[in-house]
Amino acid sequence: MARVALVTGGQRGIGATISERLKDQGRTVVASYAGNEEAARAFTERTGIPCIRFDVGDFEQCKAAVAEIKEKYGPIEILVNNAGITRDGTMKRMDRKMWDDVIDTNLGSCFNLCKLVWEDMSAKKFGRIVNIGSINGQAGQYGQVNYAAAKSGIHGFTKALAQEGARFNITVNAIAPGYVDTEMVRAVPPDVLEKIIARIPVGRLGRADDIARGVCFLTADDAEFITGSTMSINGGQHMY
Ligand code: NDP
Repeated sequence: MARVALVTGGQRGIGATISERLKDQGRTVVASYAGNEEAARAFTERTGIPCIRFDVGDFEQCKAAVAEIKEKYGPIEILVNNAGITRDGTMKRMDRKMWDDVIDTNLGSCFNLCKLVWEDMSAKKFGRIVNIGSINGQAGQYGQVNYAAAKSGIHGFTKALAQEGARFNITVNAIAPGYVDTEMVRAVPPDVLEKIIARIPVGRLGRADDIARGVCFLTADDAEFITGSTMSINGGQHMY
């Protein structure tokens, strides 16, 4: 069904594959991005999926973007909060800006966009929200107090909002990916990456398609009984 879907950070990395798979399912997809014009242009050319630029951490920008999408395509019925950043550093090196940037982009964005789509979803008695968390929000990670806190926060946010959405047929779920083969992970030094792969029982990094499959499952029209859950997609690396 041509339900309107917004995938934040949906023009590259994991988000790009999520956007494409949702489109394959007949959804009307809009992908958002922060500023990488080249990636956005190439993505739209390749897939036909329109991109919209705004900062997910900024409430007013989110408000304008949600209104624009509603005007062009109709109210958002499927929201995938995928945009995320890392600003790693040990406590000694982490400054307040690194903390704020990661919390605002990864967690503040979930508040901003859920808040802005909530009224329409409630009125329609239909909504599917998927927040992309992380294995590092479940297990913690050295040098990532900001990212682990934001992602862990997403998991709590999801469970609380799911309780509010239940009577409106709005499901709210999270996916906690393990290490997925994207630019974010390719930046990890090869020797460290080798050690990471050695800890994954299935013996490989995740693929963006592994995560997109979970998103399609959770956003299906008939997935109404699955809410407040965190789906771990991590090759068995962390069983939580
Ligand atoms: P990428 O770094 O490849 O892509 C990040 C996306 O988010 C880009 O589209 C980027 O836009 C967008 N973005 C970043 N900041 C903002 C902002 N302030 N406003 C709007 N958009 C923004 O990330 P991945 O594909 O690797 O990760 C996707 C999600 O999965 C993230 O939430 C990440 O934390 C999570 N995750 C990833 C894992 C991995 O192994 N890769 C593991 C576990 C979780 P632009 O291109 O314009 O900068």
